[in-house]
Amino acid sequence: MHIDIVSVVPELLESPFRHSILMRAIDKGLVTISIHDLREYGIGNYRQVDDYQFGGGAGMVMMAEPLNKLLEKLTSDQPADAIVYLTPDGESWKQSTANSMSLSKRLILICGHYKGIDQRIRDLWVTHEVSIGDYVLSGGELAAAVLADSIIRLLPGVLNDAGSALSDSFQDNLLAPPVYTRPAEFKGMKVPEVLLSGNFSAIEEWRESEALKRTESRRPDLLKD
Ligand code: SAM
Repeated sequence: MHIDIVSVVPELLESPFRHSILMRAIDKGLVTISIHDLREYGIGNYRQVDDYQFGGGAGMVMMAEPLNKLLEKLTSDQPADAIVYLTPDGESWKQSTANSMSLSKRLILICGHYKGIDQRIRDLWVTHEVSIGDYVLSGGELAAAVLADSIIRLLPGVLNDAGSALSDSFQDNLLAPPVYTRPAEFKGMKVPEVLLSGNFSAIEEWRESEALKRTESRRPDLLKD
């Protein structure tokens, strides 16, 4: 998979891909990531990428021309499976969407800033508009990193144990059950007996029942699907 990320603050995206699982995925060649500085496509000597909004009002808007130029360049040799604009008014990001996007060969993520991007770029280019929650961030970079992480960890070979991602929350519309590791007793609190029993069908049953209990109490909305 290849992911292109379009940003006016590319430095914000340096750290997320330099550590842990995402770095390993890159090192193993399972994903490549290109971060594009939109300012290189900006207008004039000052590499302008934003301008006042028509109709007046506070806040600048990211101009159509630099984005259009960059998107034309990115798609000239190979089309993208999805061109995603990160935006608070987009569809909520869900595990099911991460699952389906993980099957893509090429994704382009557009990070907005200021008041967001000119609507005409959304109309012309964007195939998916995604929000990571009902709050407003200063820019789309952190949201792009969230999307990239949730997609990349699903790629075959990225996690050491391929089954691990499948037993995470949301994969079957349930939250994950509680987990424990050594020691078996900590500050007088014991690990549930069944987990020490070696009886794998009993353990599986316990996990399913705990996942259901947790989902019913914390996220009953998930059970409606
Ligand atoms: N004026 C926009 C609005 O009210 O919907 C908010 C713009 S926000 C200050 C700047 C950029 O941050 C957005 O263009 C988007 O790329 C990103 N952003 C902010 N909140 C986000 C969220 N909840 N999900 C995804 N992206 C977000």
